[in-house]
Amino acid sequence: MKHKLPELCYAYSALEPFIDAKTMEVHYTKHHQAYVDKLNIALEGYPNLQEKPIEKLLFNLERIPEKIRTAVRNNGGGHLNHSFFWRLLKKNVKIKENLLEVIERDFGNFEIFRKEFSEKAVGLFGSGWCWLVIDDGKLKIVATSNQDNPISDGMIPILCLDVWEHAYYLKYQNKRADYVENFFKIINWEQVNKNYLDGLVRL
Ligand code: MN
Repeated sequence: MKHKLPELCYAYSALEPFIDAKTMEVHYTKHHQAYVDKLNIALEGYPNLQEKPIEKLLFNLERIPEKIRTAVRNNGGGHLNHSFFWRLLKKNVKIKENLLEVIERDFGNFEIFRKEFSEKAVGLFGSGWCWLVIDDGKLKIVATSNQDNPISDGMIPILCLDVWEHAYYLKYQNKRADYVENFFKIINWEQVNKNYLDGLVRL
């Protein structure tokens, strides 16, 4: 079984003006596609691994043969992270009351959460991702380098932001903080809530 680019359930322009259509198109058809292609190449000759969902591979990285472990980590992570990220983006979605209550329980209030998430995303050195995860039953903000996913460290992601330059450079150039600020206008809270509820079941 070959991994495939998942369908993008909206137009490239759907997130304008916060994420421009050109960035979406290049990000999805070039960057994400490249991770998928390189993952498939890495898994050639490993039919039992080809059948496994990518989450399983990343959850048990130490069980991946050493020869392809880095390729699976980087490209499998790239595929999983982007597939997860696309579904988290939508304009004009309000946060659900129940999720807001959990954020208030674990961070104090929404503004503190927003500030902490933004600072982590803006301050991340180099390329990586900023995440809201469930860890030990509580919400927590973590950053990962490159294409690493928090599931490799036993956490359950419910929200993420791509802070690789390819995610924002065409429109924002060096102004990562503006990109992060605008991200908060296009969070698909319905999906975050779904990820949270699914995550609780997996605990
Ligand atoms: Mn990306």
